[in-house]
Amino acid sequence: MTQERSTIKNKLRIAVVGDLLYDCFAWADRLPRMGETVTGYQNGFYQGGKGGNQAIAVARLGAEAWMLGKVGHDERGGFLLSELQKNGVHTEDVIVSERVPTGTCCVLVDRHGHNAIIVVPLANEQITDAEGEGFRKRIAQSDAVLCQLQIRQETVLQVLRAARQANRLTVLNPAPAKPLPEEVFALADYVTPNETETEFYTGLSRESLSLTDWCEGASKRLLALGAKRVLLTLGEHGAYYQDGKQCFLVPAFHIDAVDSTAAGDAFNAAFTLRIAMGDTVQNAIIYANGAGALTASQRGSQPSLPTAESISDFLRARIEEGTICKSTDT
Ligand code: ADP
Repeated sequence: MTQERSTIKNKLRIAVVGDLLYDCFAWADRLPRMGETVTGYQNGFYQGGKGGNQAIAVARLGAEAWMLGKVGHDERGGFLLSELQKNGVHTEDVIVSERVPTGTCCVLVDRHGHNAIIVVPLANEQITDAEGEGFRKRIAQSDAVLCQLQIRQETVLQVLRAARQANRLTVLNPAPAKPLPEEVFALADYVTPNETETEFYTGLSRESLSLTDWCEGASKRLLALGAKRVLLTLGEHGAYYQDGKQCFLVPAFHIDAVDSTAAGDAFNAAFTLRIAMGDTVQNAIIYANGAGALTASQRGSQPSLPTAESISDFLRARIEEGTICKSTDT
């Protein structure tokens, strides 16, 4: 992939295109049954959405992060924009709609951590063709584009086509899983589903196969669906890469996992950044595994997203103990 690297103060520019959600959590001893009201003991209101999380993850890792998405002209939208800005994300390209409200995510959690979630995308699903076209300029100014699927399919296509025309690196995190036209996978440089998304797109169940057999079979099916380079994220097992010429598994780091929420977001942000920097795929995955592991070892989503410094410290400690070799660029 030939690409000029544009920089402000030597920083890479990454455009993150995706959803912005106002997360509303309620904790109770148990989840309500149908028609029932239960009394909870705690609540919390947070910035959320894979798009927003990935943009914040990119900014924490030291790159210039531009959020491309849509919120409503309401209090929740204002809150999301200010949270992104506090975390150093550029929000000039976020569309603020007078017509549709900000998307929300309501999460009910019981004492054991089991949850029930309703996502109402609202503004996220209402990016018009003209607004999607308006993202073109920022995409052309970016070194890489990272995109997920909690926005209109047409917007995803517009963004990937614009990036292709401008010869920009693209990473598609195909989450949440939904039926897609084949062209979508073919337009992305890297496609990064997790285990359940991979099962959805390939129809290959993980249950009856060994990890490596499943990874090989599923990744080849994704290539057959048009993907050029596939990177499966495998939670505590790490990540598996396949491009038709080479394939390999990069094991996860051993950590005390506390809460894996947003581990995939940290992984995708870190991988995109390192590939855009010109890192090898293998080293970019090691770095991204570090980002995912650090996120999974802390509670919450946004607060657990790591900084570049924390990943460097983490990887240096792994080099010293001999878990990874010295040639890994921290
Ligand atoms: P998602 O959050 O999208 O479901 P995964 O669960 O596959 O994504 O996690 C993304 C990455 O985070 C993994 O590929 C791995 O690098 C890291 N990770 C997640 N869970 C763990 C864990 N329990 N131990 C170590 N690393 C983890």
